[in-house]
Amino acid sequence: MLPASPDETTCLIAGGGPAGMMLGLLLARAGVKVTVMEKHADFLRDFRGDTVHASTLRLLDELGLGPRFTQLPHRLIDTIHMEIQNQPVNLDLTRLPGAHQHIALVPQWDFLEMVATAAEAEPCFRLLRNAEVVGVIRDRDRVVGVSYRDQSGEIKHMRAELTVACDGRNSAVRSAVGLTPHSFGAPMDVWWFRLPRRPDDPKGLAGALHAGHATIVIDRGDYYQIAYIIPKGTDAQLRAQGIEALHRALVRMVPWIADRVDQLTSFDDVKLLDVQLNRLPRWYADGVLFIGDSAHAMSPVGGVGINLAVADAVAAARILAKPLLAGRVSTRQLARVQARRWIPTVILQAAQRMIHAKVIAVAVAGSDQRAPRGVTLVGRSVALRRLIGYLIAIGPLPEHAPRYARRRG
Ligand SMILES: Cc1cc2nc3c(=O)[nH]c(=O)nc-3n(C[C@H](O)[C@H](O)[C@H](O)COP(=O)(O)OP(=O)(O)OC[C@H]3O[C@@H](n4cnc5c(N)ncnc54)[C@H](O)[C@@H]3O)c2cc1C
Repeated sequence: MLPASPDETTCLIAGGGPAGMMLGLLLARAGVKVTVMEKHADFLRDFRGDTVHASTLRLLDELGLGPRFTQLPHRLIDTIHMEIQNQPVNLDLTRLPGAHQHIALVPQWDFLEMVATAAEAEPCFRLLRNAEVVGVIRDRDRVVGVSYRDQSGEIKHMRAELTVACDGRNSAVRSAVGLTPHSFGAPMDVWWFRLPRRPDDPKGLAGALHAGHATIVIDRGDYYQIAYIIPKGTDAQLRAQGIEALHRALVRMVPWIADRVDQLTSFDDVKLLDVQLNRLPRWYADGVLFIGDSAHAMSPVGGVGINLAVADAVAAARILAKPLLAGRVSTRQLARVQARRWIPTVILQAAQRMIHAKVIAVAVAGSDQRAPRGVTLVGRSVALRRLIGYLIAIGPLPEHAPRYARRRG
């Protein structure tokens, strides 16, 4: 039952991550009344992926945000160095088509604040922080809005013509609607922590994957954000071995970090991130659409999840702005969004599944085998390395900004 006079909007977006903020900005520029609800007060949380890929950089240029983006503290990387079971694999991005032959590493909270600021310049846009969506409201079978907990803890309601779930891998909207994604499993979880970086230390992003574990080192200016990959479900067992065991493993993989590894003094500074890889068979129901990780949770492999979530948002805005302005969105129009984004998602998830099975599962099992044949092949073939670089940095079916959202920078 609907409350007597719920607050109203045209498009309600649950979640202010990359998918939600980009969709909010684009729809607001189309003149659609849009409300984004974000459960946190800010975007400043330690775990946020850092990568903004070449196709998203081009999108920012089209939206007139390129100059603002360059003001953010960021690093550009045009090569990715990996070492997989002692086989070096170096991806060279300098031959990518288009204006950006690199990936940017930028703290995601800065990126999201920049998009929020641009969106807040639009009169139709509203961002409610500290607003946690806890359920949906229905009119017969159609979703017609959400219930949410506001800053004071009070449960409120907001009615909307369309609700878009951008609330990530553990989507509350998805649970409320009763949809369950198909899980492909994942062989690993990730420990996430920081170590200091000195000015003459290696720049950009580097990775090493050897028997037992893998480490990705992300340059964030005066510190490194480090992702340390462990076999799924072994967090408690590995913590019991003590922090010194982690120091030793790190130094084995990244020897130049030895002089500061002891600054990681306890496991209190090491966060566990649960890796999931899954996909909803159907990304919509009457009155509600799922995009980004709420429709397809991405593994960290390749760092493609943010790009994909942003591309979903662009496709959704292009297809749905007109019907939203007209005041009625059909399930057929929602199905068109899924149809547009299905193939790129399936391709990237298939690649992640293959890397999980052939590379990561073998490595985290602890066997000191040689690199899998596919990795050796990639190590030797320039063409294959370029293709992988393209799939990571641009991705299949990159999306362009709709005409109505374009601005000069
Ligand atoms: C360990 C790990 C490392 C990763 N590293 C990278 C990387 O470097 N690069 C990359 O591209 N991808 C990376 N990914 C994948 C990436 O994080 C996701 O694919 C991407 O963030 C999805 O964006 P999204 O907007 O769909 O969801 P999210 O980024 O998850 O955003 C969801 C937002 O919704 C909010 N929210 C959640 N529930 C509610 C609610 N009930 N009400 C209101 N708000 C809510 C959250 O606070 C959040 O702000 C990584 C994933 C993992 C697991």
